[in-house]
Amino acid sequence: MDVIADQKTKLGEAAAAFVSSPRKMLIDGDWVEAASGKTFATIDPATNREIVQVAEGDAADVDKAARAARRAFEEGEWPRMRPCARERLLLRLADLIEANAEELAELEALDQGKPVMFARHADVAMAIDFVRYMAGWATKIEGSTIDVSMPMVPDAEFHAYTTREPVGVVGQIIPWNFPLLMAVWKLAPALAAGCTVILKPAEQTPLTALRLGELVMEAGFPKGVVNIVPGYGHTAGAAIVDHPEVDKIAFTGSTEVGKIIGANAMKTMKRVSLELGGKSPAIVMADADLDMAVQGAAQAIMFNTGQVCTAGSRLFVERKIFDKVTEGVAEVIKAMQLGPGLDPATQLGPVVSKEQQARIGGYLQAGFEAGAKALCGGKVIEGEGCFVEPTIFVDVKPDMQVVREEIFGPVVVAQPIDDVNDIAAMANDTIYGLAASVWSNDLRFVHRLVPRLKAGTVWVNCHNLVDPALPFGGYKQSGIGREMGAAVFHEYTETKSVCMMV
Ligand code: ADP
Ligand code: MG
Repeated sequence: MDVIADQKTKLGEAAAAFVSSPRKMLIDGDWVEAASGKTFATIDPATNREIVQVAEGDAADVDKAARAARRAFEEGEWPRMRPCARERLLLRLADLIEANAEELAELEALDQGKPVMFARHADVAMAIDFVRYMAGWATKIEGSTIDVSMPMVPDAEFHAYTTREPVGVVGQIIPWNFPLLMAVWKLAPALAAGCTVILKPAEQTPLTALRLGELVMEAGFPKGVVNIVPGYGHTAGAAIVDHPEVDKIAFTGSTEVGKIIGANAMKTMKRVSLELGGKSPAIVMADADLDMAVQGAAQAIMFNTGQVCTAGSRLFVERKIFDKVTEGVAEVIKAMQLGPGLDPATQLGPVVSKEQQARIGGYLQAGFEAGAKALCGGKVIEGEGCFVEPTIFVDVKPDMQVVREEIFGPVVVAQPIDDVNDIAAMANDTIYGLAASVWSNDLRFVHRLVPRLKAGTVWVNCHNLVDPALPFGGYKQSGIGREMGAAVFHEYTETKSVCMMV
């Protein structure tokens, strides 16, 4: 690949201004340096050059943030504010994200590497919709009245009901694949429910969360309700999980780290929701619209350079169309234009970091060593930037590492289906259970297969489509709990039973 110009020169005025000076963290309504004075560099994965220095939070900063969030929860107006006032603030935040959409899209493309077109039309656009959808829930959280029998006091009368109360101070730890969108997925329902928050963006991609923090303050949220502490996982992240003033942890990231966080959170019995890894199947049947299925299967894995927890990373295709579909997918992905996110011609950006690039390189090598064959791609691209060739492996066996483990990069493994009765077993042959897609027009077949797939989301004739109204989460080792929809409010509220003898 040619030498890539410093991507900062391609930013618009607003984004350029944002990265022109070191960024601080948001604690109790103020932008402050780390207590240690330390900073870390956030890197442009298209060039491996430093973008800007960011305050590096650790346990001391998390402690300040947790106390601020606790004060805001116990003494501040936020949980007691009229629900419609919380709704209005969230709507104002959505308007501000919309008003600053281009700046946010550019910052995301620079910090994360994704094509700016996707940042604009996927990440930022969805973030706006998502906040608006969640704003509406502020006024719609309900308990129920329950007719109790109370056998111990059969002659008494009762009025019994439940209320749903905000769970309290929430620690939210998010990954680097959709930095702004993940921040909003986490913040919006917690805020609608009346919780206060400490959010830690991923160390690879802190910028849009910090810009979002500025918009939160501009919208007029009370101080201490939203605190944003950038830093590393083993320091700042671990301190959030351990902090006694934090009532709940919401985490999105790898299954490996999710298990550590879940186990550590139990020491103080925090509520936990975990949205973790996947190795999601895309199943293409011979009766499907094949052009659509080929495009769909290619996008299912290549969207966001494969850095999507629901990526369709295992492709299953009926034997009689196997060559046609896999060669079709290879054609589509070979034609994808690799480049920096801020180049408008780019269709596939770099992966997020040198570490990820090396990790994916290791998987590619393991695939070849185990006997897999690449129909296209197969290499990491040496030189500046974290680029990886989009790759489709065939001749794979179910026990190969590339088939079993989440690669989180632009690599798909394809396997033929010989007997339709084996499909569910093949699809479910994984520790994960986040999502699946089925490409078919045979209604009876689809309706028989869907209940047999162990996955939190099943798409039919589409893949990777999420909506704020649809619950999202994993079976098996893909996680615990559900985000979005009405379901997410189980994660952010406690149920209180009230029983009154009348
Ligand atoms: P990846 O391995 O793909 O980078 P991780 O699961 O490590 O993803 O990271 C997701 C988020 O979890 C990041 O914000 C990271 O800083 C954080 N994190 C990593 N390790 C820990 C940990 N031990 N405790 C708390 N948070 C962590
Ligand atoms: Mg970065």
